[in-house]
Order: sequence, then structure tokens, then C-alpha cells
Amino acid sequence: MKLFDTHAHLDDRQFDGDREAVIEKIKNNGVAHVIEVGSDVKSSETAVRIANGHDFIYCAAGIHPEAADDVSDADFEKIKELALENPKVKAIGEIGIDYHYDDCAPREKQTACFERQLDLAAELGLPAIIHDRESKGDVLKILKEKKVSNAVMHCFSGSAETAKVLVKMGLMISFTGVITFKNARKAVEALKVIPFDRLMIETDSPYMAPEPHRGKRNDSSYVRHIAEKMAEIKGVSFEKLCEITYENAMRFFNIE
Ligand SMILES: [Zn+2]
Repeated sequence: MKLFDTHAHLDDRQFDGDREAVIEKIKNNGVAHVIEVGSDVKSSETAVRIANGHDFIYCAAGIHPEAADDVSDADFEKIKELALENPKVKAIGEIGIDYHYDDCAPREKQTACFERQLDLAAELGLPAIIHDRESKGDVLKILKEKKVSNAVMHCFSGSAETAKVLVKMGLMISFTGVITFKNARKAVEALKVIPFDRLMIETDSPYMAPEPHRGKRNDSSYVRHIAEKMAEIKGVSFEKLCEITYENAMRFFNIE
């Protein structure tokens, strides 16, 4: 049985006190691979460092919409350089649009930052990890305009209708611990209509801890709770669900 956590933030300051111990715990809990995801230049550099220090961890480099306000040409160059110089960088991410917070970067800046990094991902032949919060219309419009299919919609919380649109566009869809929450009815309905070959699992740790750890600090070892719940909803065994999502992630991130 192999588990693959396709989205974690081990660079988060919540791990500053015990990062190496947590990584050891993740490894000892049957997690075969983790993608450590950057959200600005600094955290992307850290992501590369963490991945280079641990065989089973790979990473993504990118600038999150929250960091889009004061981003410079040099920042995009740095992301490109990280990806070109480090074989463990397997994706550009996380990138996208976020309209949830009023203090996030202005919409035009977020959009420009997103588009530029989608172009970078295409140029480098890497998949994109997409963050979409209350911005579905604009994210979909840009993905369609640019004919993006080599991407994953991370922490998916949309409807079954949206899931069908994404599947048709060729995207992967990834679920977090939200799927284990009692009020996750919409996500459950979406999961039911997504074909097996488009599914991936992620913790988005240290956030989004699944039941029975909801509200606590999350880490990649809890990915099994998400897999258990997804297996139940899809009507397959836990082993089968793990195998399918593992193979999907290996293919998507072009590992081995
Ligand atoms: Zn994230």
C-alpha cells in the first residue's frame, strides 16, 4: 500500500520546532511521496531545500496569489531558475486566484501573476498546481483561454457540475481532509462524478486536518484518513484507492 500526499507545506512555521521529527514520522507511516509546495520565492527555495534533503520528498515552486502584490520580474526569473536547476521541482505551484480575503493582492495583479506562471509551466513542460478560492469563474476562463490541461485543481471544494467541467478540460482534481468533514456534502457529490484516473489526494498541511484530527496541526501522515474516506465514497477498497491515486500522482508529476 502506497500513499502519496500531493500538497504539503512543511516549510510552514508551525513545523519550526520539530520539522525533521515530523518528516521522520511521515516516512514511518507509509507515505511513499510528498510534494512540498512553495507559495513565494522564499518558500519555494525552502521547498527545494527540503526536497533535496529527503529522497521521498519532491517539490513545486511558485508564487501564490496572496504574494502577487509586490512580485517582480526577478521573482519570476528566480522561480524559473529553481525549476531549471533542480530536478526535484516537479510542478509550478501553487498559483491561482483568491478573492476570499479583501487584503489579498488586487485582482489585476493576481491574474497577471497567475497567467505568467501558467506560461512558465507550459514553457518548462511542468504541470501547474492551481489554487482557486471564490474565483472559479476567472480561473476557468484563464485556463480555457490558455488551453491548460496539465494542471491539478488543489483542495477542490466545488460542485459536481464544476468537477465535470474540469474533467472535460483534462485536469486532475485533488481532495484534502475537507472531504472527511460532516458538512462536506458538496465535495462528496463532486467526488462521486470524477473518474478514478483524475483523482489525487493531499493534506495541504499544516492546514485542513482531516477527521479525527480536525482543528489540529495537520501533517502528511494523516493522508490515510482522507484516502479511507475517499475509498468509502467511491465504493472501492482502501488499498485500491491508494494504488490508483499513487499511480495518478506518479504520472502527473512525472516521477521515475
Ligand atoms: Zn497549499
